[in-house]
Amino acid sequence: RIINFSAGPGLMPVSVLAEAGQSMASFSQGHGLMELSHRGKAFEAVLAETEADFRQLLAIPDGYSVLFMQGGATLQFSTVALNLVGADADAKCDYIVSGAWSAKAAEEAERLLGKERVNVVVSTKKSKHNGDIPALDQWKFSQKQAYVFYCDNETVHGVEFGNKFPFDAIPSNVPLICDMSSNILSGAIDVSKYGLIFAGAQKNMGPAGITVVIIRDDLLSPSRKCTTQPIPQLLDYNTYSTSQSMHNTPPTFPIYMCGLVFKWLKTEIGGLDQMSAINTAKSTALYNAIDGSNGFYVCPVSKAYRSRMNVCFLVNPKSPDAAALEKRFLAEAEAKGMVQLAGHRSVGGVRASLYNAMTLENVEILVAFMKEFQARV
Ligand code: PLP
Repeated sequence: RIINFSAGPGLMPVSVLAEAGQSMASFSQGHGLMELSHRGKAFEAVLAETEADFRQLLAIPDGYSVLFMQGGATLQFSTVALNLVGADADAKCDYIVSGAWSAKAAEEAERLLGKERVNVVVSTKKSKHNGDIPALDQWKFSQKQAYVFYCDNETVHGVEFGNKFPFDAIPSNVPLICDMSSNILSGAIDVSKYGLIFAGAQKNMGPAGITVVIIRDDLLSPSRKCTTQPIPQLLDYNTYSTSQSMHNTPPTFPIYMCGLVFKWLKTEIGGLDQMSAINTAKSTALYNAIDGSNGFYVCPVSKAYRSRMNVCFLVNPKSPDAAALEKRFLAEAEAKGMVQLAGHRSVGGVRASLYNAMTLENVEILVAFMKEFQARV
């Protein structure tokens, strides 16, 4: 198979694809998977097992609901604002901006709620989101907070908080909201630290078309919602929590695929601690190759916040023909079967996305190519 370093939709475990292929033609009683009624017993069982495995993997405590929604992670930028701003006009929605996605989330909240309801606590925009996160004493939290929002892994810039996020700075009565689209299930987390976590599936979980939301049940209270405008039914978290995500036809195929990935994580990988160790080994191999290249490869992200999932780097940036060299690097990598290595169109450079399904062996093939390329050009 081609080695796919795409930032999303990302690659899937081969065994999952093989099993899904079989289910397409025949899954239950002569039906292919996509032909199942979402109200039938066979699909009900798929949904229940998918949720149960997800809960088990992340050790989601009682008192949290798991919702399967559509509209991608981008729609969550709107739903979070509408469902959690609350009625108190003095309370602000606090956003920590550490890259392109959290910036977009803050913009959408401003658009929906008005600038006066949104406060940017800290922003790394000036340093081009290079992971230079200012010290905590420079963060400007609001006096009264409706919630605090951050993105745990900024996919475009390769910046990840992980367990370096200053959880203690968030008062316990303020819900912490997190976009984990590009690093969910990359390792264990403590769900109880959060009010709400959401993640678009198409990086570490399954195909595009499904977004998983974990919400603490007290945040479903009507008192948390926006009171200045109606919330469309399908953007209201309660519509999903009261119907087991079955108010209307759910994305049956993506749910099934996520279920297979969860099984793969449980049985073939052995759980999230094992997954985390593999992810650390992969990203360490790549960052070591970059840092050990005497400046030929340069990662612009500050070391403390380098992402395990999206490794961004430049090819000999000091050289007068850096642009041509980068093009050549990408073309030669592609000729060797390593694709989707170009950085996001807004930042350029190289980006290797090392989602869960990427193997250490494949990362080592990239590292070997990088060394050989450097020695040759
Ligand atoms: N948040 C993060 C961290 C992402 O990486 C992405 C997509 O790459 C999004 C949000 C937007 O996701 P979607 O395209 O599913 O709306």
